[in-house]
Amino acid sequence: MKTSIATVSISGEFQEKLSAIARAGFDGIEIFENDFLAFDRSPAEVGQMVRDHGLTVSLFQPFRDFEGMPEPFRSRNFDRAERKFDLMAELGTDLMLICSNISPVSLGGIDRAAADFRELGERAAKRGLRVGYEALAWGRHIHDHRDAWEIVRRADHPNIGLILDSFHTLARKIDVNSIRSIPGDRIFIVQLADAPLIEMDLLYWSRHFRNMPGEGDLAVTPFMQAIAATGYDGYLSLEIFNDQFRGGSPEAISRDGRRSLVYLMDQVRRVEPDMRIPVPDMPARSEVSGIAFVEFAVGDDDGRELEALLQILGFRAVARHRTKAVKLMRQGAINLVINREEKGFANASYLVHGANAYAFGLMVDDAAAAHARALELGSEDFRQAVGPGEMQVPAIRGVGGGIVYFLDEKSALANIWDVEFEPVGEANGGYAGVGLTRIDHLAQTTRYEEMLTWLLFYTSQLATRKTPMVDIIDPAGVVRSQVVETQDGRLRITLNGAENRNTLAGRFIAETFGSGIQHIAFETDDIFAAAAALARNGFKSLVISPNYYDDIEARFGLDPEMVERMKASNILYDRDDAGEYFQLYSPTYGEGFFFEIVERRGYAGYGAPNAIFRIAALKRHLRPGGLPR
Ligand code: MG
Ligand code: MG
Repeated sequence: MKTSIATVSISGEFQEKLSAIARAGFDGIEIFENDFLAFDRSPAEVGQMVRDHGLTVSLFQPFRDFEGMPEPFRSRNFDRAERKFDLMAELGTDLMLICSNISPVSLGGIDRAAADFRELGERAAKRGLRVGYEALAWGRHIHDHRDAWEIVRRADHPNIGLILDSFHTLARKIDVNSIRSIPGDRIFIVQLADAPLIEMDLLYWSRHFRNMPGEGDLAVTPFMQAIAATGYDGYLSLEIFNDQFRGGSPEAISRDGRRSLVYLMDQVRRVEPDMRIPVPDMPARSEVSGIAFVEFAVGDDDGRELEALLQILGFRAVARHRTKAVKLMRQGAINLVINREEKGFANASYLVHGANAYAFGLMVDDAAAAHARALELGSEDFRQAVGPGEMQVPAIRGVGGGIVYFLDEKSALANIWDVEFEPVGEANGGYAGVGLTRIDHLAQTTRYEEMLTWLLFYTSQLATRKTPMVDIIDPAGVVRSQVVETQDGRLRITLNGAENRNTLAGRFIAETFGSGIQHIAFETDDIFAAAAALARNGFKSLVISPNYYDDIEARFGLDPEMVERMKASNILYDRDDAGEYFQLYSPTYGEGFFFEIVERRGYAGYGAPNAIFRIAALKRHLRPGGLPR
């Protein structure tokens, strides 16, 4: 599998881009003319720099407004092409991209264009170069790869071929199966990009909103399946124009790019086993049956505070690590690990971020397979020295600097709590369980620019899907929210991307120095019973404005008596086609972390319409002189 990425896809100085691209494992780069204009080295020096990084130049682009021009433009174009051929020779690449003409002067006509390309093919052949033709979605006469292919076919020259770009084909909703009848050796390069589905001008959409395959909503996989069926075995090249990426970290964006291609080709290989592109063999995406545990890194004081809060929430300390300052608290099927170690990764995380939920364990079908797949996709392995009697649990670094562990029921990992922990018979200070059964969802807060990285991280490794993005209005700005979930809802992770630090989510990121888990939602079968039990434990729920209850009573036509009960316990309500949802929140703990308790009666969402009320309540709580805590 030969992979390449256009240098315009990522930010940074040219040199910086090359290092990031090489480190992410790419074989080549597409060079844009602008790379020279903004850079004071000669083409030969640039070519040498690229090769010094172990990369090749897969493509030089773009050459615009070439075919179907009247004189004198036509002759000038051939002169211009010769000069670019000189440049390509210095640079050390043999392939040039010509995109379909957008000039109002161009004349159109398939045979005229074919004749131009045949002549150009002759000139390119003399220098051992090749020219590929790409249909731009907004080309004046040619905006469909089927027409571009017809021109290439009629040009009938070995040095003239076709360039396919998923964006141009999919943006115009052209049937991808039309690609299957093109001979693979006539396709000179394949460019890949995805994009979110937004109705807008094609050119603007393409120049600002492209993203990595799998990050958007276009059918890039079927597109690539069709190409694989042609026998094509050349470069898979990312050509991504995205404003966020141009402002993001070159390392992270390059890693995402490489991951997106490996993930894409793994999907293609499962349906096109005879394709000629070699793809690493790896286990399928892991089936996740739930969150096995969440682990907090704490110090002495905030550890005591957290344990006290968890006791009030009905958790009980059930076991202690045999050799470490680590405690297991449990309720129903929820395992929370409190790590007070003064060395190791948890402690490092504590020192940087303060008390935080720095790690979680996923219960998967096969932990070793999940780990192997993650590493193939470029995730970073995580290991710590294990003491006698301890188990090496397969783990990787998450996106925000946290850790994701993999557990399963079929290996020795199933016994982790018995092997590494010993039961404790600690008194629970008189607090009773409140009927929390399992973790409903983890809510991770990220920088807005990192959201796509997180989405790709989860969806490429785990058998999950992503929901459409929704905007949550914080009084201080917008927070973008998107969910990664399994079909059956046994794993649900909400990602909230904060655009500015004045939002509650933004403040969390600023104060904890990075993205991470901001809240954990526990499920109960009966939220009213849970609220009563919590009240007996002395729990103070987050106080919701009385106006909220007038609103939902009218909006949903609710029974006033039920609304009174909800109001008494600060329970929030939402409804969708599938059912009802009840939520209640804890005040914040530490730097903006909180717990949520939910009851689902068939409901599939996350109470997004309530987020604004929750945010307002949390902000009141954080503000001195706000409503009573
Ligand atoms: Mg392109
Ligand atoms: Mg939630």
